Amino acid sequence: MLLNDPVTLLFIIIPFGLMTTLMLCLSYVGTSSHRAPLHWWIAGDLVLAAYRAVDLLQPGVIAQGPAWLGLLAPQTAFIANTAGLLLAIGCHTLALHQLAERRRDWRWHGRILLAPLAMYGAGASVLLHNGFMLPWFFLLCVVTIGIQFAVTWTLRRQFRGAWALLAGHVALLMFHAHSTVTLALDPPPALDFSEPDMFSLPALGMDFMVSFLFTLSFALMLQEQLRQQVVQLSVTDTLTGALNRRGAVSSILQQERRQNATQRYPLSVAMIDLDNFKRINDQFGHATGDAALQLFARTVNRLKRADDVFVRWGGEEFLLVFPGTDIAQAQHFMGRLREALSEEARTPSLPLPIGFSAGLAQTGAMDSRADFETLLRAVDKALYRAKRVRGRVEVVEAVDL
Ligand code: GH3
Ligand code: MG
Ligand code: MG
Repeated sequence: MLLNDPVTLLFIIIPFGLMTTLMLCLSYVGTSSHRAPLHWWIAGDLVLAAYRAVDLLQPGVIAQGPAWLGLLAPQTAFIANTAGLLLAIGCHTLALHQLAERRRDWRWHGRILLAPLAMYGAGASVLLHNGFMLPWFFLLCVVTIGIQFAVTWTLRRQFRGAWALLAGHVALLMFHAHSTVTLALDPPPALDFSEPDMFSLPALGMDFMVSFLFTLSFALMLQEQLRQQVVQLSVTDTLTGALNRRGAVSSILQQERRQNATQRYPLSVAMIDLDNFKRINDQFGHATGDAALQLFARTVNRLKRADDVFVRWGGEEFLLVFPGTDIAQAQHFMGRLREALSEEARTPSLPLPIGFSAGLAQTGAMDSRADFETLLRAVDKALYRAKRVRGRVEVVEAVDL
């Protein structure tokens, strides 16, 4: 069934209008890192609307329409709207890719956005009156949707919404792959452009259903990203990027769930306090003090393993939790940290060397939050002893949990 009246125009404008409005609403609740992917997605939706609307610009599609509606010859309209489809897929892929945080990779962006379009443009102009044109188009759809599938695949662990997109991709890939094979095995006659290329209702229906599903999944992913950012902000110390106390508890409990006991124990904990830190502030100002705290955090991050938990406990006090590490290994880490900090002392960025005192303890089991607090009290006492001399690491021999 073909539609060629103004109602069709409403068919096109209303769904894409709704999708764009939905996405624009999201842009008001989002953060700035939200906006770039969001705008690329909206651009993709608008290109999709244009890709459908292009058919209306052929002469005779809308009876008694104004003359300018007959702007495009049927074959030009065919090329324009199929190229538009590939461009829309490119914009959506870019939006997804921005969620994967490769924002500055412009060469990659260029490939995603322009490569399918360029390939299609070159191919279509050579093969315009050739029976291979349709299989060629469907093959390009398989390639571009395949690229989008690959990008979405990398997001599946981070966002649940990615699964809905992946399911939609699989359906589309099957449809286009089937068309490619059928048309390649049994080439149709060259396309006849003596009449306008018009909408078919099933094609319109499929476009809208799939576009809705995709846009809704993407909105879900953006909303998940926003929630993750809020959680991230609530557990991070702004100055040093280390975890704050709230983050410490949730991160340690998370590890408890992820790792089994044999990997996790013995577990060592260190409470660190920077020595004579007030002197840096007093002599060089708070900005220099802040920079020193950041330098300390960078140094720890450079040395620690991925599983070690690094927390800014308060002011110039830091907590380190080392899973699967005994006291001797933790002491070795403290030695390396001290060495790395004294290396930094020879650079001009730091006016005074950063020294520290620490309390260190090891445990073979930790069943509850209360146990963790007992352990903390023990390392705190050890730190207090270390502070009498400064520049030392005091070890708690046994913690009675
Ligand atoms: P000690 O060797 O006994 O630990 O002496 P200290 O000077 O390191 O310890 P004290 O507790 O007397 O002072 C800690 C100082 O850390 C005081 C405070 O101004 C400074 N401080 C805490 N948080 C920040 C911060 O975020 N930025 C800066 N610049 N200074 C901070
Ligand atoms: Mg101090
Ligand atoms: Mg202190």
